[in-house]
Amino acid sequence: TQAPGATGIAHVADVTPLLPVVGSDTLVPLVDGRSVPYANLDVAASAPALASVAERVTEVLPLYASVHRGAGYLSQVSTALYEASRRTIGGFVGARADDVTIITRNTTDSLNLLAGCVPARADRGPGRVLVLDVEHHANFLPWRRSADATVVASRDSVAATVDAIRDELALQPYALLAITGASNVTGERLPLDEVVRVAHDAGARVVLDGAQLVPHRRFSLEDTGADYVAFSGHKTYAPFGAGALVGRRDWLDAGTPFLAGGGAVRQVGVDRTTWHPAPARHEAGSPNVIGAVALAAACDALAAVDPDEALEHESTLRARLVDGLSDLDGVQVVQVWDDAADPVGVVTFGVEGHDPGLVAAYLSAEHGIGVRDGRFCAHPLLSRLGLDGGAIRASVGVGTSGDEIERLVGALRSFVAEGP
Ligand code: PLP
Repeated sequence: TQAPGATGIAHVADVTPLLPVVGSDTLVPLVDGRSVPYANLDVAASAPALASVAERVTEVLPLYASVHRGAGYLSQVSTALYEASRRTIGGFVGARADDVTIITRNTTDSLNLLAGCVPARADRGPGRVLVLDVEHHANFLPWRRSADATVVASRDSVAATVDAIRDELALQPYALLAITGASNVTGERLPLDEVVRVAHDAGARVVLDGAQLVPHRRFSLEDTGADYVAFSGHKTYAPFGAGALVGRRDWLDAGTPFLAGGGAVRQVGVDRTTWHPAPARHEAGSPNVIGAVALAAACDALAAVDPDEALEHESTLRARLVDGLSDLDGVQVVQVWDDAADPVGVVTFGVEGHDPGLVAAYLSAEHGIGVRDGRFCAHPLLSRLGLDGGAIRASVGVGTSGDEIERLVGALRSFVAEGP
């Protein structure tokens, strides 16, 4: 499908980054021997560190020590930093007073962890989980492995898709609806408040895959009523190996500990183990203190940005990208729904007659532009879009400038006109 263009935005070269990121002055060598500044339009895969995050990491590194069990001064400081980071991270996603924030490695960890905590049915079968066919594999495979997953095919419109979710939820009792906050392929979003209401009306909880939502929009568990959110530090400008799962305590206190090991247990006997409640229950092993501090620093920096300004920055860049791409012969921007509002800065497209990998390699080698090609860990969605051969994805964030968008559009214009 062709996304609507014609937003009338012709030139955004003057749009500057909203926040400074590390590495934006990196020069990359081109095939013709020149070097140009790297245009990182692959931030949906991993976002560069905010400058303030890098500063914070440098500041706390000398204080790093083992947390929770050390009596030494630095252990106490590190424990305090780790627990303060937990509170900041939970606060950033609007955790309710009795919600739990578990520090994980990333969204994949967070969703696998929750999958192990979905309560069994009354007949002792695995809990039922409903997913859409647009999900990233991280929000698809854990439910298939650890729960009883049903996949609903999304429809052409958001409204019809929400109806399809409602209809399926009415057929049998579901424990959970696991749904994306924003598509990692198209950036499209479903109306969260409505989706949560539909699920709760049917007695199901909601977990949001927030990997692409949380870095791009202010999100609150409390305001939306969603039960859980999972997200990744490395997509939230804190690439130091931490992520989070935040949400309702009861399932997390009762569920199977994510990993077995030290720190998660209250008492271990020769043949019996007593586990801690969450979050310690799911954080066995020495935790990633620096990663948690980095993620908290990113949360603080993003929370300090005026949300209207952030929206204006991202939607201007995205609109210009979609417009510029839609203007090029043979370039098709894809979308799932014809009525999705307020997509985040992720845009996927194909260039007719050209292998996506070749286009991405051309953009890198000839223009110093980084994009992603392939099937974006969303094979069912790419199949549904008729893109089994893959596509190309460009994504923007707070560190992206208008100039980088113009460079991509210009490079693709040359590619379409002259070939690789
Ligand atoms: N969900 C979405 C929507 C994503 O975009 C990604 C990563 O691309 C993931 C989940 C998995 O994130 P991670 O690799 O950080 O676990």
